Amino acid sequence: MSDIAQEQKILEELKTKLVERHKELSGEMISHRKELRDEASPEDAAQIREDAEMLEEESFLEEQEIHLIEEAVQRIADGSYGQCLDCKNRIPVARLRVLPYAKFCVPCETKRERTKK
Ligand SMILES: [Zn+2]
Repeated sequence: MSDIAQEQKILEELKTKLVERHKELSGEMISHRKELRDEASPEDAAQIREDAEMLEEESFLEEQEIHLIEEAVQRIADGSYGQCLDCKNRIPVARLRVLPYAKFCVPCETKRERTKK
């Protein structure tokens, strides 16, 4: 197989992963919202409030991940996918397999983590 064909194949594989994860998360969000609604008849108000808060927090993280996935799919469409947004080097495929929506290579990600603190 040629390099380009190989690369196309990997890209397809990662895109499928992203789309599947997106579907999964969207489904979870819907069921979480439903759970919140179903708990509307309170027996133990405090417990229910706690559960609701936890679900809210989970939903927030899911929403963030959905956003990252959408950005990655967008980058696949415009051809910039797999390139580090900072140093413009290619992100290793091994990293993309673990984190298909990675925006930065490991050294840049580490640098960013450090400057954030
Ligand atoms: Zn980089």
